[in-house]
Amino acid sequence: MARSKIKTSSGAGAVSDGRRVTLNPKVARRSFLKLSAATAALTGVAMTTRMTAKASAATGKSGPYMGSKKVKTICTYCAVGCGIEAEVQNGVWVRQDIAQDHPVSLGSHCCKGAGAIDMVTSEKRLKQPMKRVNGKWTNISWDQAMDEISAKLLDLREKDGPDALHFNGSAKVSTEMAYLHRKFAAFWGTNNVDHQARI
Ligand code: SF4
Repeated sequence: MARSKIKTSSGAGAVSDGRRVTLNPKVARRSFLKLSAATAALTGVAMTTRMTAKASAATGKSGPYMGSKKVKTICTYCAVGCGIEAEVQNGVWVRQDIAQDHPVSLGSHCCKGAGAIDMVTSEKRLKQPMKRVNGKWTNISWDQAMDEISAKLLDLREKDGPDALHFNGSAKVSTEMAYLHRKFAAFWGTNNVDHQARI
């Protein structure tokens, strides 16, 4: 049953706080990672199959959630802006349907949009950093993850320059996160940035 709060799907993007970032050898590793947290290079599979007139969240529950309301909104996973009808209970997004009357999507979604609620409710969501240690995935703290990743990135930059890195966005980040991802690549100093959402 879907119980997670909507804000968790977009909270990772909340880094556009106006801080200035100067990329030079003195840049603090922690500051660098704070900037990049929302724009971390995520790799996903571009899903472009068109799904038509199909309820998207198979929750198994047929009736409405008690006290819920329907909220018309749009999918944030690309610039098309397909219509989503969200069922919200006590401020929590609990079920998703395709907005049949939306003038752009006309009752259709691609796979990304059809599973939009999964970014909030899926049991498979990664909720903390993991590191493979001796072949086994192990939970680590955010501090450890930021220290280790930023150290490796800055070493790479120092040794081979900013173009040694390619920033590959995911088809499953929001339009706003994709914007931050591109911005981060620019701060880093490379044009090696792309996104594999090909509709
Ligand atoms: S990702 Fe798919 S469902 Fe979402 S707005 Fe784009 S085309 Fe529509």
